[in-house]
Amino acid sequence: MNFNEFHLEPRLLHGITDRGYKEMTAVQKQTLEVTLRGLDVAVQSQTGTGKTAAFLITLFNNNIKDRTSKRKKALIIVPTRELAVQIEKEARLLNRHLGLAIGSFFGGVGYAAQLASLKKGLDIVIGTPGRLLDLSQKGHLKLKNFGFLVIDEADRLFDMGFLPDITNIIRKMPPRHARQNMLFSATLNRVSRKIAIENMKSPKFIEVTPEKLTVDTISQELYHVKSHIKMNLMLGILKDQTPQNALIFTNMRHSAFRLAKNLQQNGFNSQHLTGDLPQKRRLNIIKDFMEGKFAFLVATDVAARGLHIDDLEMVINYDIPQDCENYVHRIGRTARAGNSGKAISFASEGTADHIEAIESFIGMKIPVQAAEDNLFATDNSIRADSKKRFRNDRSKKDRKNSRSKNFQRKKNPDRARQFAV
Ligand code: ADP
Ligand code: MG
Repeated sequence: MNFNEFHLEPRLLHGITDRGYKEMTAVQKQTLEVTLRGLDVAVQSQTGTGKTAAFLITLFNNNIKDRTSKRKKALIIVPTRELAVQIEKEARLLNRHLGLAIGSFFGGVGYAAQLASLKKGLDIVIGTPGRLLDLSQKGHLKLKNFGFLVIDEADRLFDMGFLPDITNIIRKMPPRHARQNMLFSATLNRVSRKIAIENMKSPKFIEVTPEKLTVDTISQELYHVKSHIKMNLMLGILKDQTPQNALIFTNMRHSAFRLAKNLQQNGFNSQHLTGDLPQKRRLNIIKDFMEGKFAFLVATDVAARGLHIDDLEMVINYDIPQDCENYVHRIGRTARAGNSGKAISFASEGTADHIEAIESFIGMKIPVQAAEDNLFATDNSIRADSKKRFRNDRSKKDRKNSRSKNFQRKKNPDRARQFAV
């Protein structure tokens, strides 16, 4: 749904268009439907879904719609200075054709500049609880003049112990029936709900569940496995489940290369797709893969991004992606168009944090599968490699060279990092 379907003030709509927003996000649509009518909301929606514009557009629109001489001011309470700055920036962009006065207030900076901007009179005040309360107690901020209240990142505010300050601020404002109240949070816990019920006028609770990008049709599995035996587990799984094809992701270029080679040596027809290959070669690899000329493609994220590899039976995260969105991109390549698909991930040493981040991003726990002993298969590539090593038995000079290369790599981690992706 487009922003212009809501009959917003034309100058506000102009600002939104300039900002580059056309389609509303889900949370914006659901929020604005209620708040543009002046009603209260308590909104839960994950980070990055556009909650800021949802309340700013409400504030701007409802403020300028009010043609009376006494326009109500808006107070936005946020947990951190960074967030205050970020919201002020977004507000200034949307305010481009409106000319409302906006200011932000937080601790750690001097009072002089903040007081001067308060004196001029502001329509929108953004701030952290401590500084807002302080300014109010010193008589610089007249909370009685505020007719809009936004509590942003409520869960964090309460986690950080700001509840008493916030209650104190709200008490100094006009009664709840004389205000429009909005609360936003990534999670609506018990405290947030209680605050909403006690300080708002019958708020509508809006909960936007994450887009079910990953969930329903893809069966996800997580194996905990030590990194040195990941290959054996993957071979075992491929032998056991015999997928028609699979896209296997690694985080590093060199591991994609090595993995494809190892798979080949184990009798699995495979190729690697990495960012260092010329574009033409990459396209050919994809084409061959899609045509079934080989069944197993080992790729890095960068190489796979933007390329259409659809209708896979299986995706394997040999390495857990460091970026949550990449998890969704990777596994979303299976189970297209109503087909079922499988996404298998290997969690090894030091990836617990990534898993946690991914699970909160996708809004579900990835079911853990036990890596039973009999699922591990022998890796024939090790034998093939050691045979070759025996055959080639490198000269002393070679060995010395490679030692010094390794040494350089250790000494220069930046250089090692260049091999990433
Ligand atoms: P949240 O507060 O839910 O974490 P933000 O309000 O910070 O999310 O918005 C996340 C990002 O989405 C920002 O970069 C913002 O500019 C962008 N954004 C917000 N609304 C839209 C929209 N309707 N269309 C495109 N981008 C948007
Ligand atoms: Mg936000």
